[in-house]
Amino acid sequence: MSVKALIVVDIQNDFLPGGALPVPHGDEIIEPVIKLIEDPEQKWHRVIMTRDWHPYDHISFAKTQKKPEFSPVTYKSVIPNDNSTKEGTLWPVHCVQETHGSQLADAIAEEQQKIGCKIVNKGYLSDREYYSAFSDIWNYHRTELNSYLDSHHITDVYVVGLALDYCVKHTAISAAKRGYNAYILKDYTRAIHSDPESMQKLQNELSENGVTLI
Ligand SMILES: [Zn+2]
Repeated sequence: MSVKALIVVDIQNDFLPGGALPVPHGDEIIEPVIKLIEDPEQKWHRVIMTRDWHPYDHISFAKTQKKPEFSPVTYKSVIPNDNSTKEGTLWPVHCVQETHGSQLADAIAEEQQKIGCKIVNKGYLSDREYYSAFSDIWNYHRTELNSYLDSHHITDVYVVGLALDYCVKHTAISAAKRGYNAYILKDYTRAIHSDPESMQKLQNELSENGVTLI
């Protein structure tokens, strides 16, 4: 029997039009996501909302590294005795803890209050980048998401939210790697890069990693 969880990724003011790091048309998913949460036929055993939740001097901010926004960056591993590196992008300052930009969108925050669902923060250690809501990019520091899902005997994880090609994708791939049946509900997401070529690349990466895009 499947036990379903819905993970609503990063629907925060800074990722919406007008925010510091807006996902185009991100606001269009807010009402549909609320309807999805409340749809009795979905039988969600648990709903979890995630937040990107950075200290003001986070390593992924261009300002912290005194470089132009959106410039490439090479991160060094935070794992002791590991010399590996990962390529990333430096972002405008976004989702700084307790600021307006880091708050859930108003309607999503109201829904969270109404149903009293779990909030999982990520990105709160300043020396490492995070995309997945399960862990940092090194899969070294883990958030509480995995243990929360396990403690509720979740088998199937459905991921929605922002942005499809970053935190939604990485959260779903993490879920699949941890043994959950992992799905992304595409209509309830928006991407930063939504051109056909980027979408095809994304589809391939998801298939290779065992994530189903519905
Ligand atoms: Zn971030």
